[in-house]
Amino acid sequence: MIPTTTSYTTCPLCEATCGLEIVTRGREVISIRGDAQDIFSHGYICPKAYSLKELDADQDRIREPMVRRGDQWLHVNWDEAFAEIERGLVPILQQYGRDALAVYAGNPTVHNLASLLYLPVLLHTAGTHNFFSASTVDQMPKQVSAGLMFGTMLSIPIPDIERTEYLLLLGANPLVSNGSLMTAPDMRGRLRRLRQRGGKVVVIDPYRTRTAQEADEHHFIRPGHDAQFLFAIVHTLFAEGLVAPGKLTEHMTGLEQVRTLAQSSAPESVASACGIAPDTIRSIARDLAAAPRAVVYGRIGTCTQEFGTLASWLVDVLNVLTGNLDREGGAMFPKAAAGARNANGTPGRGRGVRLGRWKSRVRGLPEVFGELPVSCFAEEIETPGEGQIKALITLAGNPALSTPNSQRLQQALGTLEYMVSVDMYLNETTRHANVILPPPSPLAHSHYDLAFYQLSAHNVAHYSPPVVEREPGTLEEWEVYLRLAAILGGQGSSADLNLLDDMSIATLIQREVTTPGSRVEGRNSGELLTALKPRRGPERILDFMLRSGPYGDGFGAQRDGLSLAVLEAHPHGVDLGPLQPRIPEVLRTSSGKIELAPQAMLVDTERLHAQGVQTVERANGQMLLIGRRDLRSNNSWMHNLHVLTKGKERCTLHMHPNDAASLALGDGEMACLTSRVGSVEIVIEVTDAIMPGVVSIPHGWGHNLAGTRMRVAAEHAGVNTNILTDQEGMDPLSGNAILNGIPVSVEKASSRIYPDVS
Ligand code: SF4
Repeated sequence: MIPTTTSYTTCPLCEATCGLEIVTRGREVISIRGDAQDIFSHGYICPKAYSLKELDADQDRIREPMVRRGDQWLHVNWDEAFAEIERGLVPILQQYGRDALAVYAGNPTVHNLASLLYLPVLLHTAGTHNFFSASTVDQMPKQVSAGLMFGTMLSIPIPDIERTEYLLLLGANPLVSNGSLMTAPDMRGRLRRLRQRGGKVVVIDPYRTRTAQEADEHHFIRPGHDAQFLFAIVHTLFAEGLVAPGKLTEHMTGLEQVRTLAQSSAPESVASACGIAPDTIRSIARDLAAAPRAVVYGRIGTCTQEFGTLASWLVDVLNVLTGNLDREGGAMFPKAAAGARNANGTPGRGRGVRLGRWKSRVRGLPEVFGELPVSCFAEEIETPGEGQIKALITLAGNPALSTPNSQRLQQALGTLEYMVSVDMYLNETTRHANVILPPPSPLAHSHYDLAFYQLSAHNVAHYSPPVVEREPGTLEEWEVYLRLAAILGGQGSSADLNLLDDMSIATLIQREVTTPGSRVEGRNSGELLTALKPRRGPERILDFMLRSGPYGDGFGAQRDGLSLAVLEAHPHGVDLGPLQPRIPEVLRTSSGKIELAPQAMLVDTERLHAQGVQTVERANGQMLLIGRRDLRSNNSWMHNLHVLTKGKERCTLHMHPNDAASLALGDGEMACLTSRVGSVEIVIEVTDAIMPGVVSIPHGWGHNLAGTRMRVAAEHAGVNTNILTDQEGMDPLSGNAILNGIPVSVEKASSRIYPDVS
């Protein structure tokens, strides 16, 4: 009998980065449990982790490349698949130019070391301006506000959750999401400890979430009004002489401008729009100012609204005004071991961020950090003319379900001349592809959370080798990316991958040795390359990043410094210590200061003040639709796993009892919701957890479309909330879609209809 093996790995499914202990026999997963010795998660896991066993064994998971011929899918080998792609894509690029190709990257790419390291190579060779990702239906506003204030898009201050005594959360449900833009496994335990040491948790949300249920205070807020609420707190702090930035004063600019911007935002002037009483707003402002260590944190609900960047900015304005930015128990900057731009180059000063370097062709929407708003994806495919998107590569994404007005996008996808998907499922998006290239099982590739350790509530580093061997015939993900890059770059489908990989690492090393302030500035690049042998692929790049990073061995300069070998010797992770104050060295703005009042915020505040009343009027007579998060769901592919979908139907419409009564609707009945762009029918669940006037549908559902191969998901199809969301609704500073506060009319449904635009 094959003996069992125990492996330790980091869960790749969400931002919490929990350590797992996995017992396998050959390729078979015997058990999954929390790794009690993990230096960060200490044994904590959530139910999603168990699904890795089912995912690895899922018969619907694609294991060989597939080519579509009409309605039929044929299995082919890798060489045939890449040759097919070369025949399909290259003529389109030659005929229409580089912008005729779009690339869409889904959320799982950011949880994947190979994707993060090789996506830039793919995009560089693609040479297209049409790059889209899930970031513009998620966190882009926070990246924009952080970039403008602190100088890089991932300089996002994180709650120092273990040391704070007052936590004000807006639009965040970390007990269910397990933290987002805040990597901190076991949020339940962390919040309980906060309260046990006498601290206070206050939640502002149009839904009484599980986090709100465990908080000291919860206040409903009308969706889309977080910026007004936050401005009223800023106003109160100034009006009552509570502004005390302390040591931050000498490192910032713009304080007086913020005072001026908040002058017209007295609590009385915003209370009716927000749905929060003036006294409550003042009381929150006073508590925030009085707490010895406090932090304001906003997440998805604050981002996916019309003033998402403004709200995200105001969160950190409050942390600055109360002196809680960059101090223990406040909002602090992690120092990641690898990949952090705010830990590289000259400390305390940089180039800042540049936005709007190009614009979308049809609507003229500005680029943000190299990508265009996904809300304009469909129109860029549909609209004839130079630069029209004719071909598409999707990477672990399902925009057909996860982006606004998804029915329109689904129709647009059907008109593409060619499409390639790197994906493990034949889903609502990849059914339109000509070729699908499967990645290995998540348990069959190595793992290091390059992105999330930059957002971590404690400085840690954890590398995990693959838990199981790749299945026969599968290709490593980085090799898939490089072969696609070779096709797009003109080297052809049979290009030498080793050569391409050597070029990738050589380019990176050359950049670092010529970067002022880099740990390896002025070093001989050939010697550094030699020191990385015999590694290749993602491990070689990661080793270089670790060794040239802030804790690295500097290739001999720091004897006890980090390297990949050190991480390999520590399977439960390496503890790099609690968050430390980093201002001013963390700053990369051109001024070398915290930009408390960036020009873009001044302009958008004028828009807010001008539109605040209209926003309320527009909602009159209608309900406002918001999303919601479920512990057992994150991305749409998780709906194909029985362990995560069993039990009571979860894709339901939550509605307050008063609203249900006034519309003569009852629990379990069907409602018909209609927005400007679409209509759905869905089962009602009456609950007083939701604010009156607001209804909620979770995202990622709607698995009833023809041509997919996700059998479990099809049995729990649910309703796609993005049939209702509107591609025109957008936060203009970040291009982020408005997914919360969608005006909808609600009435009793006559029949159950699941639209299919196949
Ligand atoms: S909280 Fe996230 S990282 Fe932790 S086990 Fe669950 S899905 Fe995995």
